[in-house]
Amino acid sequence: MILLDEKRVLKYLSAVKEMSFTHKFYDVHVHPYEVVFDKFIYPYGSDKSGVISLSKDGYSIPKTSEMVLDGLMNKVKTADITSLKNITMMRLRYIYGHIGGKVFSDHMELSGINKVLLLPVASSHGEVEEKMIMVRSLYSDNNKFWVAGSVPNTIRNDEICNYVMRMRRDFNIKAIKVHPIITGINLNSEKGKDRLLYILDACGNNYLPFVLHCGDRSDIYEYERGGYALIENIKDIAWGISRSPVVIAHAGLYQCDNIEIQDKVLSVLDNMTSQHDNLYVDISGIGFKSLRKVLTRIDIDRILFGSDALYELQWKKAVTLMYALNDLKMRSEDCYVRISSINPSRIIFKEDSASDSSFKTTDCGIRVNN
Ligand SMILES: [Zn+2]
Repeated sequence: MILLDEKRVLKYLSAVKEMSFTHKFYDVHVHPYEVVFDKFIYPYGSDKSGVISLSKDGYSIPKTSEMVLDGLMNKVKTADITSLKNITMMRLRYIYGHIGGKVFSDHMELSGINKVLLLPVASSHGEVEEKMIMVRSLYSDNNKFWVAGSVPNTIRNDEICNYVMRMRRDFNIKAIKVHPIITGINLNSEKGKDRLLYILDACGNNYLPFVLHCGDRSDIYEYERGGYALIENIKDIAWGISRSPVVIAHAGLYQCDNIEIQDKVLSVLDNMTSQHDNLYVDISGIGFKSLRKVLTRIDIDRILFGSDALYELQWKKAVTLMYALNDLKMRSEDCYVRISSINPSRIIFKEDSASDSSFKTTDCGIRVNN
């Protein structure tokens, strides 16, 4: 276990701040509200302060502290998924107790981040449109917040491309996020893989990056569903059918704490990235030891900074990246700039692209299965 005292934390963060005078830093993986259970009802609409709260507990701005660089955790194994779900939900009610533009700006300020990609996720039941309206209303500052869309299960495969086009027009979405476990797309089945290809094709036609949750979630989901998004399910996908970038979130390692599994995942990823030049990984939601492995195994130009805020503290993820790069004796400032600035701006945040002003798509002719 490595403990960083607050003085060292501030040292790393001030190095990041210094670099931010000459570079714009990005976080490609942030959730604008609690997406895992999607049960919290936020009273948005009236408040102008930029803070929306689930309870009457006052909001206090995030602060730095000492921190532990987390290693490989022993996953909680329990036969009682229901009670683990309840405990997790209570914790998330606290973590996601306050949302809104000010809350996220405060985190970004602390972490030296200029702009984030917000990722709503369609739940397995019903539409996502109401959530998109909330997200656009709470995070209206396009200079700080870009928003991704998500395709609900109510949309038929052959309607996906037009749906994505409409989301672009109505909500100015900048990417599509697919979370197979939350939305309920079994990538271990032909039907699930087929749907993924339709979404991927729609991203290509709409010039949007595609962000895929990848990893294990059998802690709070029954076994089969928890494994919907494992890397072995997606290793043979024809990623090249999309001209758009594909970001494998969590470097495929979400909750994969076992070293052997990590090595397997990373060798599959290594293979995938060498086969498809539109494939990238984000480093959100993974611990220090996993991050170290990713940095040594995956080409640095394929890695994007992501935090998984607010599930994770954004400033801790920035410090962890700086520490890991130093620890590996990589040229830390140069690599930090590539992972958090150059790569995200090249792959996702194409600030000067015409997409903001001129709405551009190609035909939604379906090429999948033809
Ligand atoms: Zn996430």
